Amino acid sequence: MVEIKTDASLDAMRVAGRIVAQALTAVRERAAVGVTLRELDLVARAVLTEADAGSPFLGYRPTWAPVPFPAVICASVNDTIVHGIPDDYALRDGDLVSVDCGASTGGWVGDSAVSFTVGRARPEDTRLVDTAFAALDAGIAAAVVGNRVGDIAHAIGRVCRRAGYGIPDGFGGHGVGRTMHEDPGVPNEGRPGRGMPLRHGMVLAIEPMLIASGTDDHYTARDGWAVVTSDGSRAAHAEHTVAITDEGPRILTQL
Ligand code: MG
Ligand code: MG
Repeated sequence: MVEIKTDASLDAMRVAGRIVAQALTAVRERAAVGVTLRELDLVARAVLTEADAGSPFLGYRPTWAPVPFPAVICASVNDTIVHGIPDDYALRDGDLVSVDCGASTGGWVGDSAVSFTVGRARPEDTRLVDTAFAALDAGIAAAVVGNRVGDIAHAIGRVCRRAGYGIPDGFGGHGVGRTMHEDPGVPNEGRPGRGMPLRHGMVLAIEPMLIASGTDDHYTARDGWAVVTSDGSRAAHAEHTVAITDEGPRILTQL
């Protein structure tokens, strides 16, 4: 079921979304060669605590997960696509990091992710990250009343494929609201004009994931969470929580 939010609810979701943006900004400022993923998680925790917000990630346990998620961010380095558990890995020069974060406050959730490089970036990583954000922008631009979910999927997929990148199958965006994962699913590739019509008051997490080599293949690591590219090539991920409104897409997870 898709919950259509009132304008007051959208304003309340914006509060949660801004906290996520603050957490991701703080994490990105802290990220540097030698900093551990666990330290990045602590930075995000401090922002959530300061804002008196909860984490929809911490303790999250979908049916497929062997253990509850133990952190407030996912930190996915290099060939890890999404769902990396922050551990004592210390960032190295040239690493490509994706950080996903959520916040819950006032009964509403925000969900957003960024990718960036640490130290001296490899040109191919810069291109991959730039394309992830371009795909996100294209998906957001398609998130308008009168379009359908398939139009968002098509817009994202086209940017990724034209650049020669793979799209991990089985992963994509989703509705967001009182909980982190709601209907409808928002695939990262699809046919235009198909799927659920977009209405004022729908809120979607739009989140392209790209694999540099062009493969779509991935596997789940032994920890039961991290999703890793099958061929070891690098991946990037970008995400915003976006409200569909009669005035156009409203990005809830920016500063
Ligand atoms: Mg997310
Ligand atoms: Mg999400």
